Amino acid sequence: MKTYEILTIGGGPAAITIAKILGKKKTVGIIRPENFSMIYCAMPYAIEDIVGLEKTFKQDSLVTDSGADLIRDKVVSADFDKKTVTTELGETFGYEKLVIATGASPFLPPIEGIGYEGVFVFKWEDDLKRLNEAVKEKQLKKAVVVGAGAIGVELALALKHCGLETHLVDMVDSVLPNLLDADMAVQAEEELKAAGLELHLGSRTEKIVGDQRAEQVVLSTGEVIDLTDDENPYGIVVFAVGMRADVDIFRGTALEIGKIGIVVDSKMQTSIPDVYAVGDCAQFVSGITGELAEGKLATNAVPMARMLAKNILGAEREYDGFYNGAATRVGDLFVGGTGLSERAAGSAFDVIVAYSELTTTFPIMPEAKPVKMKLIADKKTLRVLGAQVVSGNPVTDKVDIITLAIQNKLTVNDLAGFSYSAQPYQSFFPANNLIVACAEDILSRVGG
Ligand SMILES: Cc1cc2nc3c(=O)[nH]c(=O)nc-3n(C[C@H](O)[C@H](O)[C@H](O)COP(=O)(O)OP(=O)(O)OC[C@H]3O[C@@H](n4cnc5c(N)ncnc54)[C@H](O)[C@@H]3O)c2cc1C
Repeated sequence: MKTYEILTIGGGPAAITIAKILGKKKTVGIIRPENFSMIYCAMPYAIEDIVGLEKTFKQDSLVTDSGADLIRDKVVSADFDKKTVTTELGETFGYEKLVIATGASPFLPPIEGIGYEGVFVFKWEDDLKRLNEAVKEKQLKKAVVVGAGAIGVELALALKHCGLETHLVDMVDSVLPNLLDADMAVQAEEELKAAGLELHLGSRTEKIVGDQRAEQVVLSTGEVIDLTDDENPYGIVVFAVGMRADVDIFRGTALEIGKIGIVVDSKMQTSIPDVYAVGDCAQFVSGITGELAEGKLATNAVPMARMLAKNILGAEREYDGFYNGAATRVGDLFVGGTGLSERAAGSAFDVIVAYSELTTTFPIMPEAKPVKMKLIADKKTLRVLGAQVVSGNPVTDKVDIITLAIQNKLTVNDLAGFSYSAQPYQSFFPANNLIVACAEDILSRVGG
């Protein structure tokens, strides 16, 4: 039996980060079942051929060049007393420290027809290949994407660009509900409609009807979406309605599992000595409210893993919670959000919000496009709680500035004093700035 100083279960961004930092300093084993780790974020763009399918496959050298052993197998059980794990192929590996980075899998609601041909989720290499085949080889002509979050929106647009009649369904009344409040989502909805998507918002998917294949989708509004056409007796239904932590192999063991993942402290330590959990499989809290929060993003998984790896090398860092800065592209619009939306903040805070609208460059420049920000703050303390940006240009820089402000518990007063730069091709006139304009608006209303 081979024993590793650091044994990691998983091959996603969290596990790869562990390998990269520790691979040359410790004996590290990375156990992963799938052929390829995926660049998940790019998968929708492979459907519409913006990137080749194979470009979404990460190279194994990411792990092996780090010095870690890549073990292509699946863990089926762990013995925390003996400090071993056992795999599907019957191997047993020992560990000094175990890092659980098993991630999360797409959730499929238990509705009639969920196992029919034509029904997909979208995460793994096989999902991508099967969906690609359904579009390009089987040439199915109609698709329903359930879930109007970033993955659902990106995928629905990709299917539409491939020429399919595409419907986007969500039980919430607006698109991108985890990223944008309804008022900031209006432009994105217009963009989706202009692209030819049919939106069914405020609609729950009740069932899939057909003879063992997806012929119709029935919504809670009574609407029936027909997926058949002259050439095909069924169509595509993709569920992008959220992820559930992959923790089943640990159920019934002493490892404490909470409502949304493995319970860890701020150093990623689980309830068992020398066992850690990082990434989508770990349960953690919002960095703003301290309450349990969903945070299934690569941009949370990597920092958690980096922090753990650095601590294993002797640092004393702590993870302070999810802020969930994220972005997507909807046609010609770039949108992003961070922290709490007005809707989410409303239950914990008395909020005050402000909007600013400028242009992405000096307005006299030929490339000038509109850019809009919404800032959300606590009315009493003026602490910054969140922001959303909708723009003709990429928004992650603005989103990240506000995340840094939230992380450092800055107030609207701090943002009003934000020292910014300006240049004709890259910003509005020196006379104003998107963030400062929002902050000043709030201050003028609270007498600041
Ligand atoms: C289509 C799509 C688009 C996305 N876009 C973005 C984006 O734009 N920005 C962003 O920040 N995030 C995005 N995400 C989310 C992001 O990919 C995840 O948050 C991230 O992958 C989590 O990393 P992880 O390492 O914790 O888990 P995963 O990446 O889920 O990796 C888990 C690994 O564990 C392995 N594993 C599970 N069980 C076992 C077992 N029993 N034995 C051995 N191995 C096991 C799996 O096979 C896998 O290799 C996207 C996700 C998807 C699906």
